[in-house]
Amino acid sequence: MIRLLTNEAECVLPVEINKRTTTSLSVMLKCALLLLLLDPVPAFSQTRLVVLGTVQDAGYPHIGCEKECCKNQWNSTAPRRLVSCVGVTEAGRSWLFDATPDMPAQIKALLTAAGNPARRLPEGIFLTHAHIGHYTGLMYLGREAAGAHKTPAYTMPRLKTFLESNGPWEQLVKLDNIALREMQEEKPVALTPTLQVSPIRVPHRDEYSETVGFIIQGPTKKALFLPDIDKWNHWNKKLEDILAQVDYALVDATFFKNGEIPGRDMSEIPHPFVEETMALLQNLPPAEKAKVYFIHLNHTNPLLNPASPAYREVLQAGFHVAEEGMVLEL
Ligand SMILES: [Zn+2]
Ligand SMILES: [Zn+2]
Ligand SMILES: [Zn+2]
Repeated sequence: MIRLLTNEAECVLPVEINKRTTTSLSVMLKCALLLLLLDPVPAFSQTRLVVLGTVQDAGYPHIGCEKECCKNQWNSTAPRRLVSCVGVTEAGRSWLFDATPDMPAQIKALLTAAGNPARRLPEGIFLTHAHIGHYTGLMYLGREAAGAHKTPAYTMPRLKTFLESNGPWEQLVKLDNIALREMQEEKPVALTPTLQVSPIRVPHRDEYSETVGFIIQGPTKKALFLPDIDKWNHWNKKLEDILAQVDYALVDATFFKNGEIPGRDMSEIPHPFVEETMALLQNLPPAEKAKVYFIHLNHTNPLLNPASPAYREVLQAGFHVAEEGMVLEL
């Protein structure tokens, strides 16, 4: 869309210069010719990351929650907020990152963003781990739903074994609804000559699978998608180092701060609090901070409300909050 708008602006130029142009037809022809010369690549061939959801696994509003955070959401006419997910598009092709319980709507949005809404499914699905918000959307590929044929599902080895050996997922494998593609840590998967994806291991509650984030490398830019991780200091890498290598970092912002869930021991569900991430990065230059987009927000997280003081605080500190529909050029 950005490229289309640029073209329209460029298109005005010859019309103003060439006063002798006498018919609107010749203006249009010249304009079209100029567009071809300036930009032979169709707008949809650019590589883009699209944010398709921003909420923690269980969605928003949250099951059983009648507290302040969710009570007005149940009766709200505003569109429901979808579970954390991104997609990548290039030349009408598309790939999904995580199969969430909201996958049907997210695939529809992805195919539309790719300029290919006639296609039924993306060309592949990358999975971070086996927690409900990140893989259970695969159920929609089975015979009760899409009846997909060999949709590639990219997984790490332990997640692959989990899907192959546990129902109902094993049925998707047996019926060839999905074709499992095993990834290796930090080994890039080339999707096109200008697009590749590398899984990067992170510490998390790995009951059924390992957990990864993804580095997504387009023709000119790189994005980190890391929706779930335990505390930053449990990782054998430094967030600052990764940040230096990428242009965007969509990172775990499940909770804004400690004590957010009264009565629950938050050490059982370790995530980097947004406050901790901001403190960790506070001395970095503004350009580095601006790469950060907070995603995977729990229903208790005040960043779900753009009018909250917490949201303002994050923006004033130089960071971003990921929003559904956001498009980042790769
Ligand atoms: Zn999650
Ligand atoms: Zn709630
Ligand atoms: Zn998780």
